[in-house]
Amino acid sequence: MTDAAPTGAPLMLFDSLTRAARAFEPIDPAMVRLYSCGPTVYNFAHLGNLRAYVFTDTLRRTLNWKGWPVNHVINITDVGHLTSDADEGDDKMEAAAVKAAKTIWEIAAFYTDAFKGDLAALNILSPTLWSVATDHIQDMIAFAREIEAAGASYELDNGLYFDTSKVPDYGRLAGARGDEAMGRIAEVEGKRNPADFALWRRSAPGEQRQMEWLSPWGPGAPGWHLECSVMSMKYLGSQFDIHTGGIDHREIHHCNEIAQNQAFTGTGQSGANFWMHNNFLVARGGKMSKSKGGFATLAGVIAKGVHPLAYRLLCLSAHYRSELEFSPEALAAALTRLTRLVLAAEQLRDKAGTPEWLRLFSESHASKGASVAYQRAVVESGLGAKAQALLAEFDEALSGDLMVPQALPLLEQALSDKAITADEKLRLLATMDLALGLDLLTVRRIDLRRRPSDSTITEDAIEAELAARQEARAAKDFAASDRIRDALAARGVAVMDGAGNMRWDWILDI
Ligand code: AMP
Ligand code: ZN
Repeated sequence: MTDAAPTGAPLMLFDSLTRAARAFEPIDPAMVRLYSCGPTVYNFAHLGNLRAYVFTDTLRRTLNWKGWPVNHVINITDVGHLTSDADEGDDKMEAAAVKAAKTIWEIAAFYTDAFKGDLAALNILSPTLWSVATDHIQDMIAFAREIEAAGASYELDNGLYFDTSKVPDYGRLAGARGDEAMGRIAEVEGKRNPADFALWRRSAPGEQRQMEWLSPWGPGAPGWHLECSVMSMKYLGSQFDIHTGGIDHREIHHCNEIAQNQAFTGTGQSGANFWMHNNFLVARGGKMSKSKGGFATLAGVIAKGVHPLAYRLLCLSAHYRSELEFSPEALAAALTRLTRLVLAAEQLRDKAGTPEWLRLFSESHASKGASVAYQRAVVESGLGAKAQALLAEFDEALSGDLMVPQALPLLEQALSDKAITADEKLRLLATMDLALGLDLLTVRRIDLRRRPSDSTITEDAIEAELAARQEARAAKDFAASDRIRDALAARGVAVMDGAGNMRWDWILDI
């Protein structure tokens, strides 16, 4: 197995531009080039945003699993994103800074750190490069000048606009739904086409933004869409392998990136061979949205004592192109499922001691330089026919447009298969987890025990209350028993009455 030779089933990926899955072939087999639209850092990421990065991480791990190294760039949007994807509303960063009485730079630094912390907690691999928008303003100005020189822009009082009629097939990515999106675009006085968008937003006379730069079009700030065209092309080339984002980006942001790329290069090329989009995480009431407030964060999940990897597992239980409904019950079920996997892993590890292959695997895991191909070779060398067949099935599921909801049960199946030895089970777990990223060889069952940080009662005190309730029930004082149950519920503890004994759990109300 070498880095340049992909293994197993051909990798099929769904491309939103052609609306079909097709076999993935990297432009350069020595390095797959992947760009993911990053967060706008004016607030915490909500669980929906994080679903986008669990998807990207699964894609990246799958590419590694198939034998390709990946050059992965994620941007940080710290300027220019308005409260609507079209050119209306306030600058999100400026508005957040005013509200918090902080500078934009402070806001950006704080939420960038929080975002990176969330990714680490979800065992998401760090990108090869974090690319920060405000570090690339001069690149953006130079890029916009090229677009201007190509005759694909025009100036209005409030800035430089992209003329979408100058590129072939504008909005192809959005497809039928594009018309709907177009309808949401505000009319800016003088725009030639409704879909035209700002490349440069000139500051109004007398207005001083916290973040503004001089440009050939006056002082101001870049339009939001510009940064991704500029940074992806700068670091990955004018036509790279895969560009990712949530499906909201399919409607406007990525259509505009493609238009900019086409005008800049003077070709019909979109900039990426595959445009891939994850579907939404939805709350019962509808899509989670950062700008609407009241959304669930990973910090909120952790405060309820739920291990963050339970949220990763919840994401893996749905295909990335399907909507996923978030509920406390679904999260609790994911935690239970993760606990079973971790328990199995722990038992297998305790039994195995440290065989040579595991020592080599763990060492290579710790050294960032080792390739996944090497790790797979170390682990999979000791698999018998049955285990190998299961692994081939796992590979096929993963290779079929990242069908993780089908791949994950194969691990569970392997763990309960009596015809597969304990050593093989541990090997399967190790290799499959390279793709799943659930950290199954590290996390211990004790780490998964729920300990809500916002609880006002200790476990000992709960046990004491339950003993008192048991006594009340024995004395047939049901009123007292109910009072104790209700008092516990008010403090976030659910009591489950079983035959003979009473069990309890923390109530999960995210
Ligand atoms: P933003 O910080 O708003 O630019 O969003 C960061 C990423 O999260 C983008 O790729 C969005 O498309 C994606 N995203 C936003 N909301 C959701 C959601 N509810 N579910 C899944 N992905 C989302
Ligand atoms: Zn982007």
